[in-house]
Amino acid sequence: MLVAGNWKMYKGPAETRAFAAAFSPPEGVEAVICPPFVSLAGAVEAGLTVFAQNVHWEDEGAFTGEVSAPMLREVGVVGAIVGHSERRQYFGETDETVARRAAHALEAGLRVIACVGELEEERDRGETEEVLRRQLSVLDPHPALVIAYEPVWAIGTGKTATPEQAEEAHAFVKSLLDAPVLYGGSVKPENAEELLSRPGVDGALVGGASLDPDSFASICATAARIRS
Ligand code: PEP
Repeated sequence: MLVAGNWKMYKGPAETRAFAAAFSPPEGVEAVICPPFVSLAGAVEAGLTVFAQNVHWEDEGAFTGEVSAPMLREVGVVGAIVGHSERRQYFGETDETVARRAAHALEAGLRVIACVGELEEERDRGETEEVLRRQLSVLDPHPALVIAYEPVWAIGTGKTATPEQAEEAHAFVKSLLDAPVLYGGSVKPENAEELLSRPGVDGALVGGASLDPDSFASICATAARIRS
């Protein structure tokens, strides 16, 4: 099982060092941290397994504000998230740019967590599968590609998909693309067990609850227990 902590725009280098000193990942689970760019190198130096929160599709060039896969690899980063709903919602990320980022990162030797998921109104209109099909249609299978199913209405809202909704969506994703699928959306120590124990749930992408070393360790420990 893979449990990834997306720190979003939280924790500079000093807070990252403090987290690393307090966090000990349990055996039997792969715990990954995704800090902001300025904290990546420090997180690697502190011994964490580190993914970036985004990655560009060129190795270098006139792309202000972007970071490339070779640059990430140079500081010891081993993977990247692409297509997080906050990137899609606030920064103009599209299925096409997500596809380019994912393909280039994989080619450059990074692992990739590609995020997909429907808006609340899309679920209400019965369009969840259509949205997932569209978002996944631009991604090619790859041994280092992991999908994160993150219903947008459950991210940072405290609303979680029911275990049945998660199981159903994961099965649908797997029917389209052969890849491990993480669940994301308000995963916490209190609900980790019911979500992670469902068939087809291969781990979690955790936002808010990954900022605290004890709560993130608790979710990782649940994942390890379920798969042991
Ligand atoms: C996320 O950032 O991918 C996420 C799922 O956030 P949260 O756990 O806070 O809902």
